[in-house]
Amino acid sequence: MADAQARDEVVRFTSELIRLDTTNRGGGDCRERPAAEYAAERLAAAGLEPTLLERAPGRTNVVARIEGTDPSADALLVHGHLDVVPAEARDWSVHPFSGEVRDGVVWGRGAVDMKNMDAMILAVVRAWARQGVRPRRDLVLAFTADEEASAEDGAGFLAERHAGLFEGCTEAIGESGAFTFHDGAGREIYPIAAGERGTGWLKLTARGRAGHGSKVNRENAVTRLAAAVTRIGEHEWPLRLTPTVRAALSELAALYGIETALDDVDALLRKLGPAASLVEATVRNSANPTMLEAGYKLNVIPGEAVAYVDGRYLWGAEDEFRATLDELTGPDVDWEFRHHSVALQAPVDAPIYAEMRAAVQEFAPEGHVVPYCMSGGTDAKQFSRLGIRGYGFAPLKLPEGYDYQALFHGVDECVPVEALHFGVDVLDRFLRTA
Ligand SMILES: [Zn+2]
Repeated sequence: MADAQARDEVVRFTSELIRLDTTNRGGGDCRERPAAEYAAERLAAAGLEPTLLERAPGRTNVVARIEGTDPSADALLVHGHLDVVPAEARDWSVHPFSGEVRDGVVWGRGAVDMKNMDAMILAVVRAWARQGVRPRRDLVLAFTADEEASAEDGAGFLAERHAGLFEGCTEAIGESGAFTFHDGAGREIYPIAAGERGTGWLKLTARGRAGHGSKVNRENAVTRLAAAVTRIGEHEWPLRLTPTVRAALSELAALYGIETALDDVDALLRKLGPAASLVEATVRNSANPTMLEAGYKLNVIPGEAVAYVDGRYLWGAEDEFRATLDELTGPDVDWEFRHHSVALQAPVDAPIYAEMRAAVQEFAPEGHVVPYCMSGGTDAKQFSRLGIRGYGFAPLKLPEGYDYQALFHGVDECVPVEALHFGVDVLDRFLRTA
């Protein structure tokens, strides 16, 4: 168990990191350096030698290595991002960059995404320095910039230009996993992420014959675009179960005593109730039209019309995604990727998964650990370029009424002090023996 100082520090570090405003507005508009220096100072005080790395001024990343006791073991990467998404102060009941601690809760942007985890990592390695603890595996600690935008100044830059810092790393833990999901019927579920869907943000362009709005026109770009957008939006994607999602469904079915598990997945999802939300977005690919652009005058048919689609695909289902888009857009509408990233899959029968499960169960014996696949993406995608298998493991024990998913990028983001204490305990236990 973490000592009293680690418990104090995790709360203080979370609060102080929130106060260092690292809002990422995209397009390079962010400055993580103060938070990076904050982390580096605390790592140095724990006897580590942090390296600060920037691709662009102010966009600072921090990397440090802790030597493990077992030189034959592969290294483990532990990463957290330092930037946060924007917050509008007028919408919040406390100032989003106050880091206020009130009634046992730390408030502010980054409280769960993910300055809490940054603080937990710092608190744990500092406790180890006091106690003379060394982990079994080499640990590479990475605090990254730019996760909330393109990762080009953050994990993408580190993977591309500083691969040597991650030498020997085969696995990683990062955000979004091992938080308490309350199913509304008294069960506490701790989903650990072992996969991510890939991202395909698409631009659709329909071309046609421009002309007067009063004339017959069978080559209207707006009509063509609208038809393609409707086909995409209404498309029923087929079930595609990755190994992680298959394991998630099986374990949830067992937990709820549901037989006939995987031969009718849609029926299973209906029977799971609220817990279905842990898997329903990851049993198939998806493509949602989100933006439309066409025309400049009511009585003029434009020669071109454009739409944007937020597409996501499962591991192993990207080719099918592309082929389906070709079909749905048809001959009169072109599509291209505006942003593309890979889908990830990490094994749930690996020893590291068993270690994560054991660490959660030690401090939440009433909890049920299940794997899950993230519907979106994290820095793990970038680090996968180095052959590193990423898991989402940022442990938090949340009381009933805390909707973790809604707090992500939400108004009044906050985290209970108790949740941070649990996180430090679980992380400490896991990282020692992983
Ligand atoms: Zn995040």
